Amino acid sequence: MNELNVIFNSLRGFSLYSLVDILVVSYIFYKGYSLIKETRAEQLLKGIILIFLLIPISDFFNLNMLLWILEKTITIGVIVIVIIFQPEIRKALEHIGRTSFVEKIIYEDEAVMHGVINEIVNAVEQLAEEKTGALIVIEQKTGLSDIINTGTKIDAEVSSALLQNIFVVNTPLHDGATIIRNDRIIAAGCFLPLTANDKLNKQLGTRHRAGIGVTEITDCLTIIVSEETGVISLAVNGRLLRNYDKEKLRTILVKIMKSRQNKKISFKERVKGWISKKDKIS
Ligand code: ATP
Ligand code: MG
Repeated sequence: MNELNVIFNSLRGFSLYSLVDILVVSYIFYKGYSLIKETRAEQLLKGIILIFLLIPISDFFNLNMLLWILEKTITIGVIVIVIIFQPEIRKALEHIGRTSFVEKIIYEDEAVMHGVINEIVNAVEQLAEEKTGALIVIEQKTGLSDIINTGTKIDAEVSSALLQNIFVVNTPLHDGATIIRNDRIIAAGCFLPLTANDKLNKQLGTRHRAGIGVTEITDCLTIIVSEETGVISLAVNGRLLRNYDKEKLRTILVKIMKSRQNKKISFKERVKGWISKKDKIS
């Protein structure tokens, strides 16, 4: 019983440092686990733990065939994990890319930012009142060129009138998303990636799913006006915040955009800060 000897020997050398060691490792595992909890990775982790538990057991009972399969699974597993988690790995790398040393300043002049937000919220209020469906994406630090290329380039100054005009039903540009970069409406009729989140309210259709999807892979902000209900929603960081009115929308947009300029606060902290308890998350 070699393994038992190893355990007893290490217990003999137990010291305060070992305790600290255990606490640090537990903390890292706990943090790691809460990161992947309720994601696809959680199932995978359970599978990996099972394999690592089964290996010594099958070795002990001389189950050679099982042992051979388990060991081969681990070897091939690394490649399989990279393939399965390609979207997550891509997201992580994109996130690293965003947090570069040279921070892109979105609005150098705060007055311009307020002006843009003003035009957007005015348009959104009107669109919601008329129950005209709308999907507006505000680019932040991640460039949205791939998405812009799927639509029609516009490059006009952001104005409430133009935004309202774009979404008039049965006009060529009303279908799809309108993209705003700085103080320009850069494109309309753009195609966004749909979210794969299966926990969303089933009543939310493709407009909302597209609006959320793009915020899962980039740091942009998406405003969605429902054609069916006139409800104004904001998608950020893969979450959907619902039931905004003009002033509430203005307040949160200013808050988020201002905080994005401030490098010192971490992205997670910012998200926590934006979502007040009253905001309904679907
Ligand atoms: P609403 O509450 O306004 O009905 P919804 O979430 O129920 O919204 P749908 O009724 O399916 O969504 O809305 C369809 C519209 O959403 C399309 O006409 C199109 O303009 C837009 N849309 C759908 N998918 C995408 C996409 N991938 N990218 C951009 N826009 C999209
Ligand atoms: Mg619908």
